[in-house]
Amino acid sequence: MPVYLDHAATTPLSAPALAALTTELSRSGNPSSLHGSGRRARRVVEDSRELLAAAAGAHPSEVIFTSGGTEGDNLAVKGLYWARRAADPRRRRILCSAVEHPAVQDTVEWLARHEEALVTWLPVDADGILSLDALQAELDDDPDSIALITVMWANNEVGSIQPIEAVTAAAARQGIPVHSDAVQAFGSLPVSFARSGLATMAVSGHKIGGPVGVGALFVGRAVALTPVQHGGGQERDIRSGTLDTAGIAAFAAAAGHVTGTLAEEATRIAALRDHLIDVVGAAVPEAVLRGHRTLRLPGNAHFTFPGCEGDSLLFLLDLAGVECSTGSACTAGVPRPSHVLLAMGLTEAEARGAQRFSLGHTSTTADVDALGASLPEAYHRARQAGMAGHASTIQTAGTGFRS
Ligand code: PLP
Repeated sequence: MPVYLDHAATTPLSAPALAALTTELSRSGNPSSLHGSGRRARRVVEDSRELLAAAAGAHPSEVIFTSGGTEGDNLAVKGLYWARRAADPRRRRILCSAVEHPAVQDTVEWLARHEEALVTWLPVDADGILSLDALQAELDDDPDSIALITVMWANNEVGSIQPIEAVTAAAARQGIPVHSDAVQAFGSLPVSFARSGLATMAVSGHKIGGPVGVGALFVGRAVALTPVQHGGGQERDIRSGTLDTAGIAAFAAAAGHVTGTLAEEATRIAALRDHLIDVVGAAVPEAVLRGHRTLRLPGNAHFTFPGCEGDSLLFLLDLAGVECSTGSACTAGVPRPSHVLLAMGLTEAEARGAQRFSLGHTSTTADVDALGASLPEAYHRARQAGMAGHASTIQTAGTGFRS
């Protein structure tokens, strides 16, 4: 069995999720049907909605089931932009943190290309934390032209946690809605939609021990959102499409489980993460920890390794049976430095040797020690391959989607 240190990409199904999934997969019924099977499926969906809402500090009516984080981010950013602009055509500006996942970043760029949006990328500091001063300066400059603000709750690459409540407090003074991509935060940190002050918040099943292909967008009850897809009018007419009863039941079971055990698991995983940081530091003293030292996801450790390509190190670790991630993508087979690291002020050369190790519910001390045993040799060989070495590794680099 390989050592799996890529829980931020996807984490194995938890036992309650697997039990709910297998039970529901053997049953049938469309939750929109009026007969007994349909009503039974509807009950499962509504019970799951309540469970998920309780896990995220939301009201059940605020849960819109989606196919995952990417869909939730698209629906929130496009839906808020269109609704706000329809109400007042001056609202073309989108304030967006410079370190968003592509599910938000590319959506915002699409709105700029196709829907006349004007985008301001809000800067972050060297630890990847949003500049509240920069946000305030934008808010002070013609607030009536701002359609929405979007700031992720925690970063998927370097794990830095953003000051969401300070963002929503500043935005509320001008009546501007805020979306947050909480895909990495939910299940790892205490997350309360009610307390956050957010208009919308996206979460995803497969990051918390649920299945791939299901997620939710929390939408405040007074928030106007223009739908992206049209059809049968499910989910308050915001997200049409037949509901995936089995996926939803499993997602809610995972959410209930992960939030019920969060306090102790976050402590256990953070201690393991600190051990990992020590182990990496001992194995490769040149490695530089990136992201905030304390305001970071419990399961995230992200380093840059000088003098080597992240891809080379990844493949050499994979050969040694350790699975991790560079954290960001290569585009069309060409490794590009991470936009997150560049926004934090790293040079392209510094950003190239990036490696993310992420821990989750199956992680053990033995996993971390196995990384420590493999790392010196893998780093030595990756350095020998050097910056030029990526040309040979990218052929096996796959599509490099970001997660
Ligand atoms: N947002 C963040 C921060 C992520 O880490 C991911 C994971 O890939 C996504 C969005 C996309 O979520 P999904 O895979 O459910 O579409």
